[in-house]
Amino acid sequence: MDTDVNNLLSLLTKSSLGEKELVKKAYEFAQKAHEGQKRLSGEPYFNHLFATAKSIAELGMDAITVSAGLLHDTLEDTETKSETIEKEFGKDVLFIVEGVSKLGALKYRGADRHNESLRKLLLATSKDLRVLIVKFCDRLHNMRTLYFLPPEKQGRIARETLEIYAPIAYRLGIRKLSKELEDLSFPFVNKEGFKEMSSLLKIGYDDRLENLEKFRKSVTKELAKSGFTNFHSDYRVKGLYSSYKKYLKFKKDIEKIYDILAMRLIVEKTEDCYRALGIIHASWRPLPGRIKDYIAFPKQNGYQSLHTTVFTGEGDLVEIQIRTKDMHKEAEYGIASHALYKTEGEKNNSKKDVTSWIKNISDQDPADIKHDFLSERIFVFTPKGDVVDLPVGSSAIDFAYVIHSDIGDKMSGVKINGKLSPLESILKEGDIIQIITSKNARPKHKWLEYAKTSFAKRHIRNAI
Ligand code: MN
Repeated sequence: MDTDVNNLLSLLTKSSLGEKELVKKAYEFAQKAHEGQKRLSGEPYFNHLFATAKSIAELGMDAITVSAGLLHDTLEDTETKSETIEKEFGKDVLFIVEGVSKLGALKYRGADRHNESLRKLLLATSKDLRVLIVKFCDRLHNMRTLYFLPPEKQGRIARETLEIYAPIAYRLGIRKLSKELEDLSFPFVNKEGFKEMSSLLKIGYDDRLENLEKFRKSVTKELAKSGFTNFHSDYRVKGLYSSYKKYLKFKKDIEKIYDILAMRLIVEKTEDCYRALGIIHASWRPLPGRIKDYIAFPKQNGYQSLHTTVFTGEGDLVEIQIRTKDMHKEAEYGIASHALYKTEGEKNNSKKDVTSWIKNISDQDPADIKHDFLSERIFVFTPKGDVVDLPVGSSAIDFAYVIHSDIGDKMSGVKINGKLSPLESILKEGDIIQIITSKNARPKHKWLEYAKTSFAKRHIRNAI
């Protein structure tokens, strides 16, 4: 493994010389502190720290976070004292290293421990997301080298990665990381499923790729005919694990998964996305029900893109994803792509969204977190157009409590899409919900039956 410090520094394109010096110092410090220590693979322990720091830098994180990545095991595994880290590298680096060390003490031991660790992870995160980024990259390298661990440890760590780390990375919009963590865990958690999916995807893969390449060229031509040339196109292959989840969802009918290979168009401006979509739809018939506008209605994790699936005319269906460069960066790196440079002016509010989302989660009864966290969610709207995400099956009661516990407690009626509706109505994606309150309203016992979220149930119980 190449552990040259210049290799690492070259990734820090936004850092000043002074910041690079800090990383260099952390590099030398970690190398010395872990001198003589070896990983189970037999390689020097420092390789792990270098790999962790490199992944952090590749996510575009700042010099403080990269330095903390290099130092993240010093408190745990060497004689280094907290005071030394603070004196040499500052308060922020120490805060992150201590945070990561605390997370390291958490171990997944089945359902209860799992929820507990999830809660703690999130609590730690809501203070400083950089702690979680370092932990993710630490885990990434541990997963890449999981092969060297004893089998019983492999299973535990892979399950923890798949059930806790990957979904959190996904929720924070760091799809690149979440995809890799999932695919690294998959064979250790479900060997049979992994084998089945790998061999299924291999069937006809080269043909499909060739067809996609042909189609991509026709699309490029068609766009050029309309004077549209300033864009970049490529394709992406869906992760093995997320393909498998879809495969199970479609009752093992592989034909129904249209987006294993998807074409991507990266354009300059938001209006170009819609223009390109129009040109494409004029030439290739879209599959009904598959046109998604995540630009006007971003996913909760910030993802923005237009999706459509079209008939290529060759008997194939291809999914096309159209987005701007900025949306693309966001799609791959999520919160890591912009929110962590505290000095830069924050224009969009996705950081705020994520933070409030994390608060919602960590506020909940830990026994219910996993359920709410991992189940599918729907997006509904306040009359003002604010987006609220809720688990599938939530009622107007859940919505009211998410808006504010006082609104829930004083709820007397609800209008869904402008129509008066029963409080227990199950909400559907895209509903616009207006809660009517009255001073004398009180939560009723039967509301407990109609509430889906643990958050609402707890408030109702408290109020009764
Ligand atoms: Mn580590």
